[in-house]
Amino acid sequence: FHNKRPIIMANWKLNGGVDLICSSVASLINQPFAAEIVICPPYLYLRDMLNFLQHSQINVGSQNVSKFKSGAYTGETSAQMLKEAGCQYCLVGHSERRETFGENNASCQLKIERALQSGLTPVLCIGESQKEYECDLTEQVLTRQLTESLENIDLSQQSICIAYEPVWAIGTGKSANAQVAQKVHYFIRQQLKAMYSEQTAQNTRIMYGGSVNKNNAETMLEQPDIDGLLVGGASLDPAHFSEICNYAK
Ligand code: PEP
Repeated sequence: FHNKRPIIMANWKLNGGVDLICSSVASLINQPFAAEIVICPPYLYLRDMLNFLQHSQINVGSQNVSKFKSGAYTGETSAQMLKEAGCQYCLVGHSERRETFGENNASCQLKIERALQSGLTPVLCIGESQKEYECDLTEQVLTRQLTESLENIDLSQQSICIAYEPVWAIGTGKSANAQVAQKVHYFIRQQLKAMYSEQTAQNTRIMYGGSVNKNNAETMLEQPDIDGLLVGGASLDPAHFSEICNYAK
């Protein structure tokens, strides 16, 4: 199980519109990428994106998912709806959701459950803050995020992805050093092994995210435990993003 297909995801956050969809699709659609490519536009554009990408190899994901199944929850979008629309992935617990929208490990756990029940692959985002990094608390924080977010989640029949995104590296231009990121990814894999099994640990794709660009993508992807990338800012420039995608072998 050592030849997992790498995965490169674009997180557009609250950016983009019909113009960006058209230019992104145009620059990606006919390229034979070794990696699996996934684009996560804002909710409103998921359908447009899915329509444009219908006959392509490129997949679509949402940036969030409701922890509720259905009912009186104004403004929410359920895993079932996303799946039915044609999404394959959903981000869960991005640091911006934790910071600004009160999400925590407990809500991540519910969202992961909902996603898996609906056949979506959740991408659990974890990572330490600047302060935690400075206090050498990275491993402690990640262990807690993993154990609480994955409590009672069975991964023997279904899989998730994990995105390691040190909060201090997101949108700052200060990417983690590739060797340091590799060490953290190895640690995450060991945690998965302890929580599940060697097989689950090896089969789970662990992406790195945090100021990825065309200058650091290749070195990141060369690391044995870095199975892909989650790209924010650089994914808003279609030529730049497709250059990053081409580094995955
Ligand atoms: C992200 O938000 O997932 C991210 C990695 O952002 P950036 O690439 O802009 O640091």
